[in-house]
Amino acid sequence: MLFPFQNTYARLPESFFARIDPTPVSSPEWIWLNRPLAEELGIDPDLLDSEDGLAFLSGNRVPDGAEPIAAAYSGHQFGGFSPVLGDGRAILFGEVVHRDGSPRDIQLKGSGPTPFSRRGDGRSALGPVLRETIVSEAMHALGIPTTRALAAVWSGDKVYREEVEPGGVFTRVARSHLRIGTCEYFASQGDFEGLQVLVHYALNRHYPERVDSENPALALLEGVMERQANLVARWMGIGFIHGVMNTDNVSLSGETIDYGPCAFLDRYDPAKKFSFIDRNGRYAYGNQPNIAHWNLARLAEALLPLVADDEPQAIRRVTEVLERFPDCFRPEWAKTFSAKVGMSGEGGKEHAERLLGLMEDQALDFTLTFRHLRDALSDESPFLRLFPRPDPAREWLSQWRGHLDQLAIPVETATSTMRSVNPVVIPRNHRLEEVIAAGKNRNFAPFHQLRETLRSPYEERPEASAFESPPLPSEEVRATFCGT
Ligand code: AMP
Ligand code: MG
Repeated sequence: MLFPFQNTYARLPESFFARIDPTPVSSPEWIWLNRPLAEELGIDPDLLDSEDGLAFLSGNRVPDGAEPIAAAYSGHQFGGFSPVLGDGRAILFGEVVHRDGSPRDIQLKGSGPTPFSRRGDGRSALGPVLRETIVSEAMHALGIPTTRALAAVWSGDKVYREEVEPGGVFTRVARSHLRIGTCEYFASQGDFEGLQVLVHYALNRHYPERVDSENPALALLEGVMERQANLVARWMGIGFIHGVMNTDNVSLSGETIDYGPCAFLDRYDPAKKFSFIDRNGRYAYGNQPNIAHWNLARLAEALLPLVADDEPQAIRRVTEVLERFPDCFRPEWAKTFSAKVGMSGEGGKEHAERLLGLMEDQALDFTLTFRHLRDALSDESPFLRLFPRPDPAREWLSQWRGHLDQLAIPVETATSTMRSVNPVVIPRNHRLEEVIAAGKNRNFAPFHQLRETLRSPYEERPEASAFESPPLPSEEVRATFCGT
């Protein structure tokens, strides 16, 4: 069997999903197959890289052992509750075991309508397929927990959005596709047995160390809270803006999921948002921790009936957990940003905060500033040249160096810390736009070039230098679109 499937999700009660096969596309072609990932998943890359493999990952044939399903879930979208969302354009084939020992979902996105499609066509335009491929693999290379890209396929069909666009099918690999919205679904249906099954399934799959907890629902809430606090801190460390942190896009496993209108900061500005539909900046860069906390409160609400029979007591218990969110997030943020200034633990927090203040005042590019800070202990000038008004930066440098000396942190140590967390290249918004524009004309050279460059984002290489620069004013991306 090409895919060694073991389908635990399809063994759950029928209320968890709808059984549905993908709808074939007319003339599929590979855009990219992630051969190393196939190997990690125990799938022979040579066998997958074939006409059969293409038929499977375009949705034209169901592989042996797959049990295709569309999962049910709800979601709070921009604050408002939608009781029934579900996989409207995604179909889960099943799970395979990664060589790390834990299972991974293999899911097609853009594979045709499902009972959850509502008025949608169940398809993906090519742009979002290319974007998710590049950004999710880049996030992985940057060391951020994320779903992965196994394949991107050209479907040969047209999809109708604002314009007519070529279609694509994306194969996503995830630790699971369980979301906060999955818990909300069972809670809102009043199906507390289903909710209980879900909590046990999620604990077994993602938090085995918590399975025997005295209060499983509370244990799940705590586990998800810790991982989300860590995840959002790490997003912020690389200037990532998810763009649509609705509860249906928050994974219980703590992976980044659903790369719709995501973007990266150019100029540092905590209020920055790109998504066209995020009118009020609900999901702006600096608001991501607050929103993560808000989303966790929705998870807590959904889990209430399982936390205690007595509602006031259940509320007390989840509130105690939720109130600890700032104590989870702040140290994660402080650790992330301390490393960015070459310090360990939370020791660099104040330096990082002051530097961010200068970057905001002087409208500096987030990635480039930290990229040049990597080398500032041997040569300050490239860093200082970034500042239109360098005096405050000079003062910052001298205080920072003084503190490094005081802590007896060797230059080499601080430098290698910074080089391991301050990337040279990220998937810059304007580069992604170029990739997508070329892809629509069936030119995938820019796609492959950017994807290759992002495989080692922390390394300085001559080939990478062209991808380092921030956008020229004419290249700047001002808004991103879901494109769904
Ligand atoms: P998203 O904004 O991508 O997180 O999607 C929100 C919901 O809309 C999910 O239930 C999706 O399955 C559904 N959806 C998005 N695009 C489509 C589409 N083209 N066809 C059917 N359902 C869709
Ligand atoms: Mg989604």
